Amino acid sequence: MKYRPVEKDYLDRCHSLVVLGGTFDPIHMGHIAIAEAVYNEIKPQRVLFMPCGQPPHKYEHQRVTHAKHRLHMAALAACEHPAFDLSALEINRPGLSFTIDTARALTALCPDGAKISFVIGADAFEDILKWKDADELLKTCKFIVVPRPGYESAKAMAQIEILTESHGGSFHWLEIPLKDISSTDIRERLKAGKSVQGLVPKWVEDYAHFHGLYRSEVPFNKAQMGERFKEATESLRIRLSPKRFKHTMGVIEEANRLAAHYSLDIEKARWAALLHDCAKEYSTHKKHTLCKLWRIEVDEVLAANIDVAHSLLGAESARRDFLIDDEEILQAIRYHTTGYKTMTMLDKVIMLADFIEPGRDNWGPLKEMRELSLININEALILGIKATIKEKKSDRQPIHPWSLAALKTLKKQK
Ligand code: ATP
Ligand code: MG
Repeated sequence: MKYRPVEKDYLDRCHSLVVLGGTFDPIHMGHIAIAEAVYNEIKPQRVLFMPCGQPPHKYEHQRVTHAKHRLHMAALAACEHPAFDLSALEINRPGLSFTIDTARALTALCPDGAKISFVIGADAFEDILKWKDADELLKTCKFIVVPRPGYESAKAMAQIEILTESHGGSFHWLEIPLKDISSTDIRERLKAGKSVQGLVPKWVEDYAHFHGLYRSEVPFNKAQMGERFKEATESLRIRLSPKRFKHTMGVIEEANRLAAHYSLDIEKARWAALLHDCAKEYSTHKKHTLCKLWRIEVDEVLAANIDVAHSLLGAESARRDFLIDDEEILQAIRYHTTGYKTMTMLDKVIMLADFIEPGRDNWGPLKEMRELSLININEALILGIKATIKEKKSDRQPIHPWSLAALKTLKKQK
């Protein structure tokens, strides 16, 4: 699967760029700390995380996790910072990932004279002469070398001097606080069932856990669905703000009640309710980045208010992060904000539960909607959608055509 390049939109305007390449198997706090330090010290326009496709330096027995997982974890972690981006350039390029090829590609994409630097840890720097086309690489590229626990900084600095003399290259030693974290250690900890709390972002920890990465046993089967629901709830308790988590619990309660009343599959309703807002609190930058990466079309309305895309992103995240493959659940998450022309009962239940969950108060037609909820779900939703449209109009915000289409159909079904 090819990932849409997220860098296309800005590289031709990017005059200074720092690239942090790596296997990112998985991305960890050490990587994030390097990117932050480099950003604060060097002040480039952007920092680009570049997970490699096939690392040339890993041996056959060191099997690397599938690129889609490494890319996804890097996206979840890296895109919280407005100046950080993630590139699928190396992952999309067939064959081994050589830095020289990436340097050439980036030079071609950026404006003439753009300053492109590569960050490299003291461990990787030791071996740099073994890299493909090392002579050209060292002559033409700029490197920022950072210390790494277990590797003598003095030795790296001496190597910088030697290489500057021999190749006339550009090397910058950047003293950053040492973080004794490595992906190797994280993989070993996960394999041994040990905690990796604080070593990787929570998103990454959950992703690795749900996908059974770095463990030998099979990640999960349907019989463990109840157990998984508990785990996913705990994961959201940490990820979401307390207010959003409380709202989510309210939506589960309401969806449960409505699903029971309308004889729907309660498990499906509970999962859709649990995950409906899982992407709501992604930063604006992360929402934009993930829409590009996951090929979610950003139409005019979404472009004007990317927050609306949280339901589309939520469905994607439910699929990718929480391994939900049930299309009905995914659809209910996808359309819970806007509605849709042809809504299933489950879609309606989730949308209504979001409107009227017990924690909501003092909102437009809330009382009437609650009264109608068990009598005529279509009428209840019409009131909610109409009130939303009114609010948007008074805030001069565009209205998504899906909401208008939903309204039309619901009126016919009334
Ligand atoms: P592995 O243990 O699988 O080799 P890693 O932790 O070294 O993983 P990589 O993806 O190989 O992570 O590293 C990408 C880049 O980040 C390399 O240049 C590496 O030297 C640097 N790096 C990784 N972790 C640290 C750290 N804790 N401190 C400094 N540099 C680091
Ligand atoms: Mg490494």
